[in-house]
Parts: sequence; C-alpha cells; structure tokens
Amino acid sequence: MDAPSLPIGDFKVHVLKDGIYRAPIGDLIHVRGEPARQSAIDAWTSPDFSVDVNCFALDGPGGLWMIDAGAGTAWGPAYGKAPAALRDAGFSATDVSAVLLTHIHGDHALGLFEGEKARYPNARLLIPRGDLAYYGDSAILEATPKENRSSFRTVAKLREIYGTRIEVFEAGPVLPGISAIDLPGHTPGHTGFLIHGGRENLLVWGDVVHLDTLQLADPAVGFDYDRDPELALRSRRHALESAVGENWLVAGSHITGVHRVKRHGDGFAFTGERDA
Ligand SMILES: [Zn+2]
Repeated sequence: MDAPSLPIGDFKVHVLKDGIYRAPIGDLIHVRGEPARQSAIDAWTSPDFSVDVNCFALDGPGGLWMIDAGAGTAWGPAYGKAPAALRDAGFSATDVSAVLLTHIHGDHALGLFEGEKARYPNARLLIPRGDLAYYGDSAILEATPKENRSSFRTVAKLREIYGTRIEVFEAGPVLPGISAIDLPGHTPGHTGFLIHGGRENLLVWGDVVHLDTLQLADPAVGFDYDRDPELALRSRRHALESAVGENWLVAGSHITGVHRVKRHGDGFAFTGERDA
C-alpha cells in the first residue's frame, strides 16, 4: 500500500520514520549560559524528551533518492524502521540510486549499513565535504577522546563499504532540483537540502532543530550534540529566517510533519502543517 507523499515540483517526497530518539532534558544547553539553561530545563515538565528520527525518499525524474538513512540496527530496536517505511511507500532498497547525507551522525548514516554490507547497494553516496574532511582526518581522530570517535568510525566503514561510490559536495546545486545549504555547527559540514518545486520549495534542514517546542521560540536553546553551539545557533537562525523570508516549507530529521515558519515574539513558530 502506498503511503501518502508530498508533491514538490517534479518530486514526490516521502517522510520515512526510522524511529524515536529519547534522551534526558539535561542534554539541553543554552548559548547564553547556565541560568538560561536551567530556566529552560525547569520550564520543561518531564525528565526527558522524545523526538522522531526521520529520513526522506524523493521520487523524481532522476530516479529514487534519499536524504539520510536513519540509524539502522546499530542503535537497538527503537530504530531501523526506514527500510520498512520505504517498502510501504512502494520501493525497495535496490531502487535507491543516490543517498544525500545532511551529516555523518549515527542516526543519519548508520542506516546505510546492513551488517557489513551496503543497505542501498545501487546508491551513490553524497557526503558534505566539511564532514568527510573532519571525520575522515586521522590527525583529528588521534586528538579526539576515544568516547567521541563514533563518527570517525562511521566514515571509515562507509569508505570500506561504499568505496568509490562516495562523492563529496559543497554548497550549491548537488543533484538536479536539489541544492545544498551550508548550516554548520551541529557538525562541521552539517547541510540542509532545498528541494526546488517552482511554486513550492521544501527545505530539509537536518538537525538545525532537535526539539521544536523549545528551539523555535528560543533558538539559543541547543543540545550537547551541537559541536559548536554558537555556530549552530547562527545556522538555526539562518534556516528559520530563510524559511520565513522565502516562504519555504520545512521538514527535519527530528521534527514531525512538514511546516511553514512564521516569526513569533523574539523567536519563531510553525504554521500551516502539510501532510506528507
Ligand atoms: Zn540527528
């Protein structure tokens, strides 16, 4: 049975829910420091929070492409549902001819593996140059504490398994109808993808926002997964302001649904949800 899809120009966009990420609200950080952090945590009435882990299938004239691939089986049974969601949308893994990564973190890239094999055996793999340069650098690896090396391991395994099918890209056109927008901070090369639809454009913004209920109202709220919180804040503001100014639809790895953005007080809010 075909799941509903969102038409954007020549593309049909399917949101593939890979799982649910649950974490302590104490992972929250605040760019303005500890008092602001503590009051944001105090206002949250639960010790933890849950958000979607999404990836996306784009069915278009150039073939079937994906943005991100979910966590696969590496993060336990709460994840790894993207391949079934892809099947429900009417496709198989062998139909995917390109996967674009917003960044190299596990909940976006580990779903590219099926054990020691490629989950998407016919796909080119497009990785932001900034992330491949950073997480593929052996000197940076050596200088990184052992417990923070998972993304370096992911790059090494991607190189082993996807080999010459790996390509890098920078900001600008990346595939016909899709351009990459630099949104660094969460990782060095973190990227959003703008899907050009003519009348309607959709920004798939990766991890610009992890918890929309807090971060739209106060974009200075971050999470300790942001490698450079100040830079992540600038990218968050840039993405939100662009979405307002250009009237883009937005979707993300950790937000539910497809939205437009409006200004609201000192921050932003979602408006006008679209089904996908
Ligand atoms: Zn993520």
